Parts: sequence; structure tokens; C-alpha cells
Amino acid sequence: MDRPPLNRRLAGFGTTIFAEMSALAVRTGSVNLGQGFPDTDGPEEIREAAVRALRDGRGNQYPPGPGVPELRAAISDHQRRFYGLDFDPDTEVLVTAGATEAIAATMLALLEPGDEVIAFEPFYDSYAACIAMAGATRVPLTLRAPAFRPDLDRLRSLITPRTRLLLLNSPHNPTGMVLTTEECDAIAAIAVEHDLLVVTDEVYEHLVYEGAHHPVAARPGMRERTVSISSAGKTFSFTGWKVGWVTAASPLVTAVRTAKQFLTYVSSGPFQYAIAEALRLPDEYFDTFRADLRGKRDLLGDGLRAAGFEVHQPQGTYFITTDIAPFGEKDAYAFCRALPERCGVVAIPNSVFYDDPEAGRSQVRFAFCKRKAVLDEAVARLKRLAP
Ligand SMILES: *Cc1c(COP(=O)(O)O)cnc(C)c1O
Repeated sequence: MDRPPLNRRLAGFGTTIFAEMSALAVRTGSVNLGQGFPDTDGPEEIREAAVRALRDGRGNQYPPGPGVPELRAAISDHQRRFYGLDFDPDTEVLVTAGATEAIAATMLALLEPGDEVIAFEPFYDSYAACIAMAGATRVPLTLRAPAFRPDLDRLRSLITPRTRLLLLNSPHNPTGMVLTTEECDAIAAIAVEHDLLVVTDEVYEHLVYEGAHHPVAARPGMRERTVSISSAGKTFSFTGWKVGWVTAASPLVTAVRTAKQFLTYVSSGPFQYAIAEALRLPDEYFDTFRADLRGKRDLLGDGLRAAGFEVHQPQGTYFITTDIAPFGEKDAYAFCRALPERCGVVAIPNSVFYDDPEAGRSQVRFAFCKRKAVLDEAVARLKRLAP
């Protein structure tokens, strides 16, 4: 067996950094601010809705391929309610196994081997793997500290005859950057001029603290060329339910569905009914959720500053990117591996989300989607780093 089992497309995609750092947290009894999942579950009434669906025999067998009609209608209404976007629940909405499957199915459906995909760097880790599985090439548009704004002249210069799509993510994980309407318009104009598809990951759409979330699908010329991806995991604190969705013009949804039907086919039956109810929660739910997370952002941000980090204030998401330069250190990966030993906290080195090893070398990401007591404890422990 000279040939290694893992194929060349996936070579280099070993264990994710989240698995590595979460294992380190367990081994050392550290406060885990690495992986971005909430440590409290979403609304009780939505959990009850899932129990009811399960007991009533709704969704216990294969649900319809595109998703249950109740959920597709709720997704369509959500896009109209928050953004004034109209999507036909029957032909322009597709339910997926989380945003993760939506990303995979979209890349597998839309890309030919050799196509180029321009994506913001640092990347969410599944983007690079899905682009590779599709046989395409990723071309990073580096978001640079401290503001992490996309350089649109640089974007123009990266476009070649092979460029097929722009993969956007706003609010952006890990930097917390949120695209402005002006940036969305400029990106839209570039996509129209070069006839590019746009795929936009908006799983943090309800976690914007400064300004507002601007779906790129709402910009001029974009409806026909944009695949918008979101998920219930982050918005409703049910990351284990894996209910995600795609909204796009019907030819794009049909393409994505073609790939999706051979990945999971369907998933999350009873949970789909519960998320249909979640999407119809009153504004108060969304406002309270955002206000709670904003308070936690400020609590952890102040703690990190007090401990000596340079803090890049996020406009959205539930992550804070910091720089370790004030400690006289440069290597985020080495820093994160030593952090449990030094103070009992686990974080994620952003350097692993860059192709350019220098660009994010000294950046470390902390998640603040945790109970206040956990954040207080983390802040107390981080103080041990202060000189
Ligand atoms: C968490 C996350 C996802 C994955 O969402 P799921 O619905 O859990 O699959 C996708 N994109 C980004 C940017 C994320 O942070």
C-alpha cells in the first residue's frame, strides 16, 4: 500500500483545529473559549416544539427532499420580514444539514475542476476543504488587521478568466467584520461586470452589534446570481440540530439540490418543524439575543484588554480576534498550545485560517457565546498573563 488512503484533494486537511483545541481543553481542565458553540440551549418553547413534532410523528420518517413545507414557508417569510427579499418557498428555498452541508453542496454543484473561487482570508475552515473536494482552487482575498475591511481594488486584480465565484461571509468568522452597504454594492458591481456567481454565508446574520446585516442578495443585479446560506444553529443556539438552508433563484437552488440529494438526502426531520416556529419568534427574541451577546462581547473584550491583548473589536459574530504582539510574542499557534498551562484558557490561533502564514501569524480568537459565569472565570484566569 504505497499510496496513502487519503486522496490528494484532501491531503493537508487533517484534524480540525477545533477538535485539537477542545481535546486540549478537556485534558487540562481549561475554560474553552475555542470552539464557537453556546453553552446554554436555545428557547424552551422551541425545544418543546421539537418534542411535540417527534411525539406527533412529524418528521420521524424521511422528510421531503427540499425540506418540510412549514420550514420552507418560514424561511421565505423570514427573508421578507427582515430584508424585504422574496423567495418562492417551493422553488427557491432548500433545507440542508446545517450551513456546512449547504456550503459543500453549493461548491460541488457550481464548480468545475480548475475553477477559481475568491474567498475572504482568514477562511472558515470548511470553505477550503469544500473548494478542494470540488477540484477547484481557492484564491484568498486577505482581510488585514486592524479593521479587516476587504480591499476591493485587490479583489478586482484577483479576477481571471477562470474565476467562477466569490465566496463571501458577513458577519465574518473569525474577524467579526460586517460588510457595509457600500462594500456590498461594490462587490455586486464586480460580480455583474465579470458575470460571477456569489455564495454568501450569513449564519451570523442576527449577531450584528454595529450597523446592520446587509444581505448581498438584496443589492442590484444580485438576485439571479447569489446563493445565500444560513442556519438555525447560531441564531437559536441549537448547533446540534443541524438545520440550515439555502435561498436563491430557482436554477441555482435546483443545482444545489442535485448535489445535496446525494450527500445527506434529508436530515433533522422533527427539528425542521421546531425551527419553522423559531423563525417566527417575535422581534423581542432576536433583540434580546443580540443584546445579551453584545454585553458578553464587551465583558470579554474588556477582560482581554486588561490582560494585555490588543483587541480588534468585532462588529458582529460571537468571536473576538486579538493580537499577541503586546506580549512580545508572534506565533499564535504556539501561544494557544501553551495558554492552558499558563492560565487555564483555550483559544484558537487564526493563523490556521490563512494561506498567507504571515498575515494572521500573531492573531488569536476567543469565543464569547458562553455563560456569564464562564466568561468571568476566563477573564479572572487571563489576568495571570498581565505583566
Ligand atoms: C458555524 C458556522 C457554519 C456552520 O453552520 P452549521 O449550521 O452548524 O453547519 C458555517 N459558516 C460559519 C461562518 C460558521 O461560523
